[in-house]
Amino acid sequence: MQAPTKENATTIGRRGFILILSSPSGAGKTTLTRQLASDHTWGLDVSISVTTRQRRPSEIDGKHYQFIDREAFDALRSADNLLEWAEVHGNFYGTPRKPVEKVLGVGRDMIFDIDYQGTRQVRAKLTDDVVTVFILPPSLAELRHRLERRAEDSPDTIEKRLANARMEIQRWSEYDYVIVNDDLDDAFRSLEGILIAERLKRARRTGLTTFVEGLLAEPD
Ligand code: 5GP
Repeated sequence: MQAPTKENATTIGRRGFILILSSPSGAGKTTLTRQLASDHTWGLDVSISVTTRQRRPSEIDGKHYQFIDREAFDALRSADNLLEWAEVHGNFYGTPRKPVEKVLGVGRDMIFDIDYQGTRQVRAKLTDDVVTVFILPPSLAELRHRLERRAEDSPDTIEKRLANARMEIQRWSEYDYVIVNDDLDDAFRSLEGILIAERLKRARRTGLTTFVEGLLAEPD
């Protein structure tokens, strides 16, 4: 990432944004999200969703999701504590609102791993400060292979997820960027490229006018 110079660090800032990754199950977005978030040089906060889905053996409550029951979910929803929510594969998922407001308020960026229904809701609420990326699998056969290899879901659940995959893939054109995840390292590099470019966007940055005025005021 570009290191700020001494001069511009004092005057140039920017608003934080939400980076949303969506894809059908098994296309790799969760792996990519976690890889990007665990590399601290990127300074990304991860949104931890609440869900009524059963915890998978490898998942940790409070780290990968907050696992809650339907009653607790409905209470969060009615109290307007969710920025967005959706029913996906028969379970409920939602993004707690407060952590997002806190992160954006201090000019940091946050990464979301959510579906297209949630993406639409976040976009409608935060318009300019949302960047969306759709991850496609190289083929449906590979998608099936990845879900079976993961071996964390029952055969029934896998079939349900594959049936939904076609419908989810059709949402690709609602996204700003599309990555075909044929190779995880390549996909990760593409994601880093998107992050760098979005952080440099003029419209999201503050203090540039003052900085340029200072540059132009320098003697020749
Ligand atoms: P999984 O059960 O495999 O962890 O996730 C299933 C789907 O739910 C994925 O497409 C994932 O992106 C989506 N999802 C996870 N958390 C949220 C959330 O907070 N809101 C929405 N709308 N979708 C979510």
